[in-house]
Order: sequence, then structure tokens, then C-alpha cells
Amino acid sequence: MLLGAHISIAGGIFNAPIEGKRATCDTIQIFTKSANQWKAKPLSDKEIARFFEEQKNTGVTVACAHDSYLINLGSPDEESYKKSYDSFQIELERCHLLKISLLVMHPGSHLGNGEENGLKRIAAAFNLLFERLPDNKTVVCLETTAGQGTNLGYKFDQLAQIIDLVEDKSRMGICLDTCHIFAAGYPLQSKKDYEETIRQFDRTLGLNRLKIIHINDSKKPFGSKVDRHEHIGQGEMGLESFRHILNDKRLSKIPKILETPKGEELLEDIENLRLLRSLIEK
Ligand SMILES: [Zn+2]
Ligand SMILES: [Zn+2]
Repeated sequence: MLLGAHISIAGGIFNAPIEGKRATCDTIQIFTKSANQWKAKPLSDKEIARFFEEQKNTGVTVACAHDSYLINLGSPDEESYKKSYDSFQIELERCHLLKISLLVMHPGSHLGNGEENGLKRIAAAFNLLFERLPDNKTVVCLETTAGQGTNLGYKFDQLAQIIDLVEDKSRMGICLDTCHIFAAGYPLQSKKDYEETIRQFDRTLGLNRLKIIHINDSKKPFGSKVDRHEHIGQGEMGLESFRHILNDKRLSKIPKILETPKGEELLEDIENLRLLRSLIEK
């Protein structure tokens, strides 16, 4: 089983696998550039080579990248929409250079323009980008969201609607965030509820589209629509939810990534990963 965490690229992108190993990760998620800035310095050949080298040295793979928080492909404002898809193109290009096969992204917010319109704009952006980048091998993974504000993607059905409108569906995948779906109102705690939630996912999106799991506990209650990550076992979800996920054979090959707060020593990641591994039945 591949378990890991989101790891910082401070000091250079090649540091991430080294830090990931320190945090006892099998695999990691990274930003390929600063998540709070539009601009990015182009990657040098030297940096890219070292990034591959450190993955080999440490044995820590990079399961996926996560896009910048500034990007909103659902924006009704033409200027910020264009800025967003141009920026997302750069993210896809960076992933391609770094041979990162999955790019996780928050679908976007409609900002009052209505859910249907928002979903259409998101899909249109992918159609444009896939045409611009015909040879890009990175699969876009729409992340399930908690449904805060006008964020889209808090129902499996909304993600299915986006994929429906994308012409090249082979370039689309899903990232399921446990905290987000719990906050959005998909129950996971009892075995029966868990099975029903996974059945709904499979019926609406297909389990074959599920590429990444973000494994986070939730600080806020079930159905709260508020996105606040908590350490495993310390939030509202209960350890049973995680036990179901970790022992579900259908999900055993899917990388599972923590996105919980941590200090410089990475002790929180180490503890969360230890706890998650202890829940796996032999
Ligand atoms: Zn997430
Ligand atoms: Zn979140």
C-alpha cells in the first residue's frame, strides 16, 4: 500500500522526496510551484534531473501534484478565467516535465453565476487545454470538495457532469478527499454507510476513475460543508472510517496522501502514518 503526505518543496523541488522519506512516506504529493503565487520560475534541466535522482535514492515516489489555490476554472469573470486556465496550462506542463502522472485540482467556484454555468466553464477550460497540449501525459484529477461557499464538486454528480462535457475523458480522473466528502454529507463510519458511499461513487463516476485518495480527518461535523483537516483519529470521522478505506481491496492500489498540519520535524506525519498503517489488517 502506498501511504504518504503532502510535502513542501522549500529549498528546491528535489528536496521533497528527501523530506518525504524523513516523514516515513512511501509516496508524496507536491506543489510544482508556489501555491499562493501566479508566477513560477521555469524548471531547469539540472533541477529536473536531481528531482528524478532523489526519488531513486530515497525510494519515495511522487504520486501526484496539486495545483495552485489561486486557480478558478469556474470563474465567471473573463480575466480571472483566462488567468486561471493559462496558469493551469503551466501546471500541466510542469507535471509533464517532471513526469508526474496526476495533477489534483479543486474544480472551481461559480461565484454566484450558478452551478450549471460553473461546471460548463470548468469543462470548457479542459477542452481548450487538452487541445493546446495534445502530447501532455498528465491526468487531471478533479478533487471532491466540502462545498464551502460557491465551490463546486461537493456532489459526485457534479464531477460526473464535468467529465461528461470533456471530450478526451482519458485525461480525467478523480481525487477523493475523505474530510471533504464527510463534510459534504457522504457518511463513512458504519460499514453499511461506507459501502453505500463507495457504491454511489462507483455508480456516478466509476471506481476506475479514482486515482488518488486524500486521507484526512475532519475538524468540522458531518455535513457541515466546512473544509478543515484534522489529524487521523482526532476529528469527527472516527477511526472506523479509515479502517474501512484502508482494508478495502478495491482501493488497495490507490495512493493515500495526508494533508494535515505539521511542524518542521514532521512528527505529525510520522504519527498519522503510523496510526494509519496500524489499521491495516494483515
Ligand atoms: Zn485534499
Ligand atoms: Zn481540504
